[in-house]
Order: sequence, then structure tokens, then C-alpha cells
Amino acid sequence: MYDVDTVRADFPILSREVNGKPLVYLDNGASAQKPQVVIDAVTRGYAEEYANVHRGLHYLSNLATEKYEGVREIIARFLGAKDAEEIVYTTGTTMGINLVAYGWAMPNLEPGDEIVLSVMEHHANIVPWHFLRERQGVVIKWVDVDSTGYLDPQKVVDAIGPRTKLVAVTQLSNVLGTVVDVKTICDGARAKGVPVLVDGSQATVHMPVNVEDIGCDFYAITGHKLYGPSASGAIWMRRARMDEMRPFMGGGDMIREVHKDAITWNDPPMKFEAGTPGIVQQIGLGVALEYMMGLGMDNIAAHEKALRDYARTRLDGLNWLSVQGTTPNKAAIFSFTMQGAGHAHDISTILDKKGVAVRAGHHCAGPLMDFLGVTATCRASFGLYNTTAEVDALVDALELAHDLFG
Ligand code: PLP
Repeated sequence: MYDVDTVRADFPILSREVNGKPLVYLDNGASAQKPQVVIDAVTRGYAEEYANVHRGLHYLSNLATEKYEGVREIIARFLGAKDAEEIVYTTGTTMGINLVAYGWAMPNLEPGDEIVLSVMEHHANIVPWHFLRERQGVVIKWVDVDSTGYLDPQKVVDAIGPRTKLVAVTQLSNVLGTVVDVKTICDGARAKGVPVLVDGSQATVHMPVNVEDIGCDFYAITGHKLYGPSASGAIWMRRARMDEMRPFMGGGDMIREVHKDAITWNDPPMKFEAGTPGIVQQIGLGVALEYMMGLGMDNIAAHEKALRDYARTRLDGLNWLSVQGTTPNKAAIFSFTMQGAGHAHDISTILDKKGVAVRAGHHCAGPLMDFLGVTATCRASFGLYNTTAEVDALVDALELAHDLFG
């Protein structure tokens, strides 16, 4: 039985006030708060167990290495991956996608080759492909969503032509909350011999994920949204794809031998991990994922689904609010604009006065903003510790904003 009050007690920040009001944290889409177990793990990592990894033969280095390397298995379990060696550590999704862009796509794509993207991608899954467009003439093909924010997986498969070399798509929109049927996309892409990169930044926060079941080739996650430390993360890459890749960054750890006129690479995953990594961050990520799995991903999903339904009903009752993305299969993420209000920033500033933290802006999704015909929205994004009372607090604050804007 999922007891949200018990869960909330694990997150010390949730008991603080903001602007004299109890904090209502609805900016989880940007970054999530951390449970005490993660804070403790990070503190212990520095206070008692810190040394560089892989290098030393002393007690602390061995301890740090063991804990740091142990997280690969935790991430593999979290993602349903068969082999922990297919997990490459990153500082987050941005780095993971750049690794694929530089390490896999850059050496393998020719001018005129295509990458298929949905219009709902985050800039982290757009800008690296623009680099390839600018530098080597790669063509980006865009697939639109419908007016409800639904992405038809068949439209993505149909966009794959003879020159398509990669499909890169999010599993859950950070703006609309739309859940994308990436499995159908992967089935269709595989039949055409095209690999798929899935941006799992948001999906892994809200639902159970299994990369083998999805059938993708690359799956990127970001630790700070998963209740873990910032600058932690990973990308799962199918072993066969790893073998097709060049390293992205050069430096210590990713090599086997270095001479004046020759180098050889280490084996994956080390081949893709240059330099001193975020040791304590990754250890904290492991603890965060164990925390989520301890609560149960199905339980988290069920709790958030109930929140989504409640929030949808309450927000639908505000006829001066336009909520973007009404497709039924979506997470508890609501982007909206308000009739009569100037900029989304004005609404979020008023909400903040009531202790309600939301995001305002383009949410790093420029093409989607163009598609929706807006420059910015406010976004309330819920997480595993939010409550229906917080939905009410959001609605009260929105009503106040509406009264003020007249
Ligand atoms: N992809 C999606 C869907 C996101 O929501 C985000 C973060 O907001 C990212 C990618 C980028 O993640 P990060 O900044 O942690 O690398």
C-alpha cells in the first residue's frame, strides 16, 4: 500500500516553507527533490568513503570503486537490461545523447542521410542532431503530434525512408506528458533495419521501463529527475552498437595503452568514460534507484495516475485555462496558458508567492512551442511525493492569479 505521507517524510525539503507558505513542489519535470537516503549516501561518500576510482590500490580507492561500479548493476536492473556492461555512465541525458551523436552517428552518417525526430523532443535530443546537420549535411525529418499531443507511432515508422539512419524519440514529453509507444516505433524501425534512440529522461520517473521489451538500441536517463544527485546519469547501449562506436571524449580510463604514436581503447563501457567521473553522484543515483524500486515502480505509476486524473478534472473546471496536451495516455504533467495573463512568467511568479513552484518558459522544446503556436507555457509536473491537496493548492493559486489578471 502506497502511503504518500510516509513517502513525503523521506524528503526533508518538503517540510520547508517558501514565501511563508508550505512548499508545493510541482517542478519535478525540471528536477526532483532528494530523499534522506540519497542525501546521506552523498554525505557519507565525501565524509567517510571518498577517493578516486579505478586508480589506487588502497582501501578507500577500492571501497569507492566497488560502490561506484556496483551502481551499473542497479541501473541495469532498473532498466531491465541484461548486461551491466551495456550501461555507460554519463552526467545525464544530454551527455548520453551527445555520446551517441559524436560516437555513433558522426562516423556512420553521410551527407543526405536522415534522422527522424518527433516535434516534441527536448533540445537535448535536437541540438546534437543539428550539429550533424550543420557539419555533415545530415537531414532532420520531423514527425508532428496531433492536436491532443498524441504521437502516432506508425507515422514515425512511415517517416523512415531508405536514407534514414536513426530514429531519436522521447518516451514521455516533458511539456505535454504524452506517453509515446516506443515499442511499436522500435518494432517498425527494426523491420527497416534502423536503430532507435529513446530519450528516457521523463518516462523512467513515472513508469516501469524495460529496454529489452522496448527493443531500442540506445536508452538515455538522467539522475537528477530520478530523485538522485545532479550530474549523474547513464545511457544503455546495445553491445552491437557499442562495437560500432568511436569513443566520444578522450582521456584517462578510456584507453588501454597510450604511446607517442599510437593508442588503443579500453573495452566498453570504460571506452566511453574518460576522466575522473562523478563518483559520489553515481553512488547517490544507485541509492535513488533502489529507493524508487523499493517503493515499486508500479505503485509510483498508480499513485501518479490518480494524481493526474484528479488534476485533470480540477484544471478542466477552470474555463479560462488552456491546458496543452489532452491525450488520455499521459503522465501528471500539465502545461497551460491563462486567458488574459501576459507571460507565463507572470503566472508562475504569483504561484510562487503562494509557495507553489512551477516552471514557466519554453521548456527546452522550441519546435513544440512553434507547433503549439505559443512562446511559453506554465508547467506543473508531479512526482511520487505529491498529493491531491497540492493539486488543490495549485488550483487556488491559479484562481488568485486569474482574479489579479482580471
Ligand atoms: N530530455 C527530456 C525529455 C528532458 O525533460 C530533459 C530535461 O529536462 C532532458 C532531455 C535533458 O536532461 P539533462 O538536462 O538532465 O541532461
